[in-house]
Amino acid sequence: MISLTEARQYVLSGCEPWHQVERPLAMCLGLVTAEAVTARETVPPFANTGMDGYAVRAADVVDAPVSLEVVGTVRAGMSGLDSPVGPGQAARIMTGAPIPPGADAVVMVELTEISADGATVEVRQAVVEGNHIRPAGDDVVAGDLVLAAGTVLTPGHLGLLATVGVTGLRVFKRPKVGVLSTGDELVDDGSPLGPGQIRDSNRMTLLALLAESGYEPVDLGLVRDDEQSIESALRNGVDSCDALVTSGGVSMGDFDYVKVVLDRIGDMRWMQVAIKPAKPLAFGTVWRRDRTFGVPVFGLPGNPVSSMVSFELFCRPGLRRLSGHALDDLDRPIVTAIAEEPLKRRQDGKTHFARVECRFDDATDRYVVRSAGAQGSHQMMAMAAADALAELPDGPTVETGDEVRVHLLRP
Ligand code: AMP
Ligand code: MG
Repeated sequence: MISLTEARQYVLSGCEPWHQVERPLAMCLGLVTAEAVTARETVPPFANTGMDGYAVRAADVVDAPVSLEVVGTVRAGMSGLDSPVGPGQAARIMTGAPIPPGADAVVMVELTEISADGATVEVRQAVVEGNHIRPAGDDVVAGDLVLAAGTVLTPGHLGLLATVGVTGLRVFKRPKVGVLSTGDELVDDGSPLGPGQIRDSNRMTLLALLAESGYEPVDLGLVRDDEQSIESALRNGVDSCDALVTSGGVSMGDFDYVKVVLDRIGDMRWMQVAIKPAKPLAFGTVWRRDRTFGVPVFGLPGNPVSSMVSFELFCRPGLRRLSGHALDDLDRPIVTAIAEEPLKRRQDGKTHFARVECRFDDATDRYVVRSAGAQGSHQMMAMAAADALAELPDGPTVETGDEVRVHLLRP
């Protein structure tokens, strides 16, 4: 058996980010920038008002209340006024409209009273120069660095890029990830189960985990335990995807042809990781037939809970790395929680990942966990109920009140 750290390092070494593409801004949410972005435009591009009101000369309203002559209206989208605002004058102005020449402050409409004929306005309060004016460039100046390379793009970043006139940029590609199930016992079409058959659940789970993590899932179907079918499914998957996830056929069974085929066509390492569940793991690369690049292949164990835990510990971090995420940004959030009940385990030289229900307890200001149910690697009820994996170090049972490291599966 090798340690979780060693297995993980091996996986990450085969997932170095490399595939960069140009993408329109609207397709970039969650992707990682492959280049720094410098503003080519200044924002705001012109001085404008942050309030609806009147553009005035501050010196004119020092002795408020005063009455000013209204010389026009400036709306958002207008270039300005025909003539400057002179002494004793004011212009009606709407939020976002440019400050007309001559004016140096804005009085909000709530502090004014327009005359019945609209010719004059009474300003009830003095304002300082610059009042409610948003100067040109008080957000971004052309030439400013707006985003560093390696930024994970949020809605706010996309808005910032749009505001400086960027319409597309260079990012790390969102990987297209193929998923295939293997096993003669599996049924995936809803038909009644025959003797010895079970339903294919892993493919559903893995495709959903990929979608949830922001990747492009590709359903490569269910493949029989037959060397030729497995080879052609794997080859086609490698040629059409950026990464591959298989489940089943990587343990010690006699009909594990995934292993036979991957060994022949790829550069794979077969690992026994000191964790429970998800001890067996295969990882390596298979070159595309056109030799353009080696596709990372994750051979996950077949047991349904194992395949999910293995996805969390190896696949998700590996795929995040492949998409340009920094080494310290590959995991789900990890918090320390208090066990509300004993989390039973046996000492066996492995780290256990228990499926737990986790919540934040407002009374104590701490996360607390309890078992989500029966912990067998085939038992999906607890996996489905779990919102976290509790990391139980090798040793005796974690007792009520003990601290435990918890990987949050949901926000
Ligand atoms: P294997 O690694 O192929 O020996 O499979 C280990 C266990 O996982 C066996 O009980 C399989 O029946 C089960 N299994 C394998 N693939 C799937 C799948 N796609 N969905 C549900 N169970 C599976
Ligand atoms: Mg099998």
